[in-house]
Amino acid sequence: MRKPLVMGNWKLNGSIGMAKDLVAGLRSELSTEANCGIAIAPPTVYLDFVKHQLGGSNILLGAQDVGVHLSGAYTGEVSATMLKEIGVTHVIIGHSERRTYHKESDEFIAQKFGVLKEAGLVPVLCIGETEAENEAGQTQAVCARQIDAVINALGVQAFNGAVIAYEPVWAIGTGKSATPAQAQAVHKFIRDHIAKQDAAVAKQVIIQYGGSVNDKNAAELFTQPDIDGALVGGASLKADAFAAIVRAA
Ligand code: PGA
Repeated sequence: MRKPLVMGNWKLNGSIGMAKDLVAGLRSELSTEANCGIAIAPPTVYLDFVKHQLGGSNILLGAQDVGVHLSGAYTGEVSATMLKEIGVTHVIIGHSERRTYHKESDEFIAQKFGVLKEAGLVPVLCIGETEAENEAGQTQAVCARQIDAVINALGVQAFNGAVIAYEPVWAIGTGKSATPAQAQAVHKFIRDHIAKQDAAVAKQVIIQYGGSVNDKNAAELFTQPDIDGALVGGASLKADAFAAIVRAA
């Protein structure tokens, strides 16, 4: 049985005061045992502060990105071992905003996947098609290509203990979530695609849905057999909305 994971992606939002209030809100809303794993990914600069605010809770700490190098002359980068040292367990890679604004390639993202595995961190690999690709009937081809970059670089076993977040780009921050049936169809495709290489790996890999998940649509999305929780942007900035999504999982 896969344990779903609900993860909040704060993106470039917040301040020390906001992080303090939001974590306090989450701790009181989520004080009882949940059926899913829970993680929050604040901006890098607040990770250590948030870790201390989370002390003793069952909420895991995530990061939004990682560099591919472990140390050296790489100005501005943050390494997997540094994230691990301050208590991060999960790291988002390949988010569509980084693929678009930072021109991150499938191969570069696969490299990040590798450094995270090497450091003992859980990669949360974001994949998904744009609206144009969706309309051109390329959803499956795009998802397969983004998954295959990791399989080609690291082998299918790299997905053991990893997380995939299927996030159709047209659904991110638009208020226009994929329907449960639409999402399920793609999640099943992704799992079957991995199963072609290794059925056991496919069976255990967590496949989250992301894209305008909120406290109203989460429960129905989570009824789908291949949807294992959610990667939540906007709604993760409100303690009550995020907690409601966690309770729906
Ligand atoms: P959203 O973002 O929930 O605001 O659509 C999801 C994401 O980008 O991870």
